[in-house]
Amino acid sequence: MVLSSESLVESYTRTLDCVHCGLCLPHCPTHQVLGVEADSPRGRIYLMRALAEGRIEEPESIRPFLDRCLDCRACETACPSGVRYGEILEATRAELERAQPKRGIAAWLTRTLLWHVVANQRRLRLMFWLLRTSEVLGLRWLATKLRLMPASMAQIAPPVPPASERRPLRTGVHKPPPGTKLRDVRVALFTGCVMEPMFGRVNRATLTVLLANGFEVHIPESQRCCGALLVHAGQPDRARTLANENVRAFADDDIVLNNSAGCGCAMKEYDHLLGTADGKAFAAKCQDISEFLATEGLTATPAEQPIRVAYDDPCHLCHGQGVTRQPRELLQQVPGIDLVSPTKSDDCCGSAGIYNMLQPKLAAEIGRTKAAHLHECAPDMIVTGNPGCMMQIDSHMRRSGHNVPVRHPIELLLPPQ
Ligand code: SF4
Ligand code: SF4
Repeated sequence: MVLSSESLVESYTRTLDCVHCGLCLPHCPTHQVLGVEADSPRGRIYLMRALAEGRIEEPESIRPFLDRCLDCRACETACPSGVRYGEILEATRAELERAQPKRGIAAWLTRTLLWHVVANQRRLRLMFWLLRTSEVLGLRWLATKLRLMPASMAQIAPPVPPASERRPLRTGVHKPPPGTKLRDVRVALFTGCVMEPMFGRVNRATLTVLLANGFEVHIPESQRCCGALLVHAGQPDRARTLANENVRAFADDDIVLNNSAGCGCAMKEYDHLLGTADGKAFAAKCQDISEFLATEGLTATPAEQPIRVAYDDPCHLCHGQGVTRQPRELLQQVPGIDLVSPTKSDDCCGSAGIYNMLQPKLAAEIGRTKAAHLHECAPDMIVTGNPGCMMQIDSHMRRSGHNVPVRHPIELLLPPQ
C-alpha cells in the first residue's frame, strides 16, 4: 500500500494539537464499551499520527480501530486543546481508501449503496418502493435475502411508510397561508435523502411550521444528497460532486435550513470539503431549523402537548454544530410540555450514518445503553433531530420492551389544526 504523504499533511498537523491528556476518553462511546486505548480518541490519534509519520509498516492494521469509530465528535467537545478529530479521521480514512479500497460487504455497502442509491433520489425512491412492496406482501425477509436491506438494517428500520407519506415536497416557492403575518425573511429548505422516504412527515411538518410562522420557503428541485455518509466512508471526491451541485442549487438563497443533524453538519463543513470561496459562502448560509426558529422566534403557538418529553441530542447537532440550547428553548414553548433531559443525552446512540449496519454488535451495545438512559426518565415521547437517531432509538426502545414514540422536535412545533 502506498500512502501519499501529501494528502496526510493536513491531518498530521492536526494530530500535533493532541497533548495526550486523556480528558476525551470517558466521553468516547467505543472506549466506554471496549476499554481499549486504541479504541479511544487519544489512541486513534496516536495511530493516525504514526501512520502519517510512516511508522506503521502495514497501514491496513489500523483500519479496524478507525472503522469502529462512530465519528460522533464527542471527543472534540471534551477536548481542551481544540483537536479537530473529525477532520483527522476523515482525511485518514480517505487516504486509506485511496491507497487500498476496501473489499467485501462493507465495501459494497459504502460504494454501491451510498453512491448509486442513496445519492440518487430516483433510485432511492425505487428502493423504498421495493421495500414497501415486500413488506405489504409480508416478504421483508426476502428484501434482506436479496440485499435490498442488510439484516442489521432490517432490525433497526421501522416499516417503510405508505406512498402518501413518502411523497416528496413540491419544489419551488411556498407562500404562507393567507392571513399569516409575513416575515421579511425568505428561506430555502434542504429535504435530504433518507428523511424524505422514511420521515416525509418531518419534512412536511418543517414546511408547515415555517409557513405558519410567516416565512416564504424555497425548495430547489436540483438539490442533492449532502454527501455526509460518503465523507465518513472515506470518499470525499464523490461527496465533493454532490456538494458542488448543492452549492449551485442554493445559489440564489441566503439561508439554507436543514432538519437532519448529520446533513446539516456536513453542509456547514463544505468550506473544508470544497476549499473554495463558494463552499465557504454556502457553509455560512446553513442553519439547523432549531437555530433559525430560536433566533427568529415563533409567532404561531404550537399545539398543546400535555406529555413528558425527553430530548436527546444528536451528536452531529451538539458536538458537530454546537447546537444544544435552541431545540430545548423551542420545545419549552410547547404548551403543557414537561421537558426532561436524559442522562448523557449527548452520548451517541450508535446510529452514526450506516455504522449500525457495519458494526452491528457495537452499535447495539451503545444503543442499549442509550435506551436504558432514556427509559430512566419515563418519557411519554422521545424527540431527537436526526433520522438515523430516530430509527436507532426507536429500535432499541422497542427491543428493550419500551414502546415510546420517537419524534423530531419540529413535529411538536406544529400549530393546532
Ligand atoms: S468520534 Fe466518537 S467514537 Fe470516535 S474517537 Fe471520538 S468520541 Fe470516540
Ligand atoms: S482531550 Fe484532546 S488533547 Fe486530550 S487526549 Fe483527547 S484529543 Fe488529545
